[in-house]
Amino acid sequence: MKTLSLAISDFAVPSPRSGSIEAYSGYGSLPNLGVEIHQEIQTRRQKEHPGYQAEKWVTHTFTQEKFKIQVNGRCDGFSYGPPAWIEEIKSAHNAQELLKALAANPDHPYRLQLRTYGYIHYRLHREEPQLNLLIVSARDRSEIDFPLELDVAGYESWLKRRLSELADEGKMFEALKKRRRKLAQEFTFPFSEPRQGQIELMRTVEENLNKNTRQLLQAPTGLGKTAGILFPALKEALGRGQKVIYLTPKNSQHAVAEDAVKRLQESGSKIRSATIQAKAKICLKDQVLCNPEYCEYARDHYSKVAEKQLVEKVAVKKNQSTLALQKIARQHQVCPFELQMQSLHRADVVIADYNYVFSPRNSLGRLTYNGFEKKSAPNLVVDEAHNLPARAAEYFSASLSSAKLREIQKGLQHLPPELYSQAQDLVHDALDFIDSANPSPRPALVEVEAERFLKLSARAGELFARYMESGGEAARENDGVVDLQNLFSDFAQALENRNEDFFCTHTPGPRGGNLRITCCDASPWLKESYTAFANVVTFSATLKPFEYYTRLLGFADGPHLTAEFSSPFPREHRKVLLIPQVSTKYSDREANYSKIADGIQRIVQIRPGNYFVFFPSFEFLGRVSSLLSLPQFKILAQTREMKRPEIADYIEILKQRAQPTLILAVQGGVFAEGVDYPGEMLIGAIIVGPALPTFDFERECLRAHYEKKHGEEHGFDYAYTYPAMAKVVQSAGRVIRSHHDRGLIVLMDRRFLQSNYVKSMPADWVGDEPLQHVSSSLLKDIQKFWDDNASS
Ligand code: SF4
Repeated sequence: MKTLSLAISDFAVPSPRSGSIEAYSGYGSLPNLGVEIHQEIQTRRQKEHPGYQAEKWVTHTFTQEKFKIQVNGRCDGFSYGPPAWIEEIKSAHNAQELLKALAANPDHPYRLQLRTYGYIHYRLHREEPQLNLLIVSARDRSEIDFPLELDVAGYESWLKRRLSELADEGKMFEALKKRRRKLAQEFTFPFSEPRQGQIELMRTVEENLNKNTRQLLQAPTGLGKTAGILFPALKEALGRGQKVIYLTPKNSQHAVAEDAVKRLQESGSKIRSATIQAKAKICLKDQVLCNPEYCEYARDHYSKVAEKQLVEKVAVKKNQSTLALQKIARQHQVCPFELQMQSLHRADVVIADYNYVFSPRNSLGRLTYNGFEKKSAPNLVVDEAHNLPARAAEYFSASLSSAKLREIQKGLQHLPPELYSQAQDLVHDALDFIDSANPSPRPALVEVEAERFLKLSARAGELFARYMESGGEAARENDGVVDLQNLFSDFAQALENRNEDFFCTHTPGPRGGNLRITCCDASPWLKESYTAFANVVTFSATLKPFEYYTRLLGFADGPHLTAEFSSPFPREHRKVLLIPQVSTKYSDREANYSKIADGIQRIVQIRPGNYFVFFPSFEFLGRVSSLLSLPQFKILAQTREMKRPEIADYIEILKQRAQPTLILAVQGGVFAEGVDYPGEMLIGAIIVGPALPTFDFERECLRAHYEKKHGEEHGFDYAYTYPAMAKVVQSAGRVIRSHHDRGLIVLMDRRFLQSNYVKSMPADWVGDEPLQHVSSSLLKDIQKFWDDNASS
């Protein structure tokens, strides 16, 4: 018999699933507040009733057809009788609203959960226990008892439906597993001739799967790394009846993975894929406010989905597209985002943003949900993994700034007078809270008064609950109350997570201060997230030095493999040159602008064509731009707030090649990562200096942290050099994208010769000797390179 083991919260749900999406309906409270309330009450109860047990472990196994269904949970409070007494504590900002919902719905999950604990006790002891739901207002801590009757016959009628539903689900997962195993047997690599290096990459991935080894792979562009990694990872997962979760840092980078999946499908594989669209992008309303009062698609979503069997309809699609999901959602008046999330378990490849696995508010459980299968898990593939350490650290950081609060104030005008004054008082007190953190006019490390903040946060929650009570369906775009609630809850979450890898700063500014909790290292959370997967493969063209990424990606404490793969293209197709006569250090810039402009002009005129010059900042770009004189060239410059159509126009100009074009751009920007310029679209990239992060108080604190944690010699490199070099390598990586490409990579700055900068460069750029790329007759060398490649 197969065993399905599930948490009580997954077990005790209405059957068939019904109801609305209710994220903003006043249920629940901030997680930190909920825990605190639970503990307070449990401690009190223990004093009042000596036999009281808090967090009592409960488990029971039901049998249904060929399945054993094991339910596990911890009830908040338990006392032996007779009769025994079982209690669940639920805190809510809007306790009355929760009470109303509980009274109206006998199958409310909270009621079913408590009755399940009661029923398990009844089965074990043949005694009907007393059941109590204790509703606690997070607003004023008032308590309301909501006693329940077990009603054995009624419960068993629900149980019968639920067990049968779970058995059906078990059979569906078995069929899914069987289907995937069959797919694995027929799975073939989509290219008849894998590229040079790609075979080695595939072999490395394959050989290290199922060895409890995390993989960190650096492979250059052009190797076909997406297909080379996805193929073995997926084949192995399918062989176990599992799927692959493929993550990218930005939604715009999903296309590469989608393309690889398409190739696999075109070569005959019947794999199904789903790309998770961001909620804001797929939402059918103007504002993402998921509650049944505001959104008609949230209303009775689960009932409609179950009744019309929409999951079954969506899940069988080869590729789930936004438009198709929105069409079905409109037709049946359900939420397209939630429908998509409900259908994910049947996709063989799920392509998603990092958020869905690594953010503290992730959907990891839904992505990895396996039904009965507890012994094996999906594989995780992380693309452009050099972005992950900083992205993950940002998830756990938060800011509370006067400027933001003032902006939010503008969205409070529509409130009725009483709520308006409550909101204004809160903003006023929060501004005071920020200012009092640092009496000095300079940025400083500060201690956040946690207790004082949590009181403010509770007031934000209370304001939000009152707002919803008073007709929050009027919630609108840029709604100040919603923004306040989110701001306070993010800061409370960061406060809660703080450990020795965090620091808190206050930075005064012309419009008031900014209080920021910074997470320097999110690797413990990353590590925790990896445990939901059987194998983890991370890759990028920029993962050196390995030691740095290994630590910050959370691989350092366990078995892991690092490997670097070389470019598959002949070295003579690319010329790497270092110009150490230039210095882009802040103090040297003024003296170097004209030298840089002159160097660019000379280099690009040797062979007119399309070039990028990647600068460390827009300011730098502007200064050099004003000195350039290249009548033969069209000169274009990236701007700070460039919109998509403009970006597309620039790329089209490169594609058309009507005139030699020089695009001045910034490292780390839209033109430097995740874009391809094949063939003659681009024949050279000039990288002007490493784009070191700004030397400000915050960054210096980060450096101090790394010095303390990883050794004095690593502080600067961790905080400045390595993040900057990731951008340099990415920018340079735009040049050679295929076997037919020829191109120049010119690095301008003497720091590129220093060992800490060289450490980050791909081995086939510099080898052991960067000096070989310093030319005493630079222009002649470039001319020779183009002459040698003229006929190719
Ligand atoms: S349609 Fe938009 S607002 Fe409505 S439930 Fe879905 S995501 Fe939320």
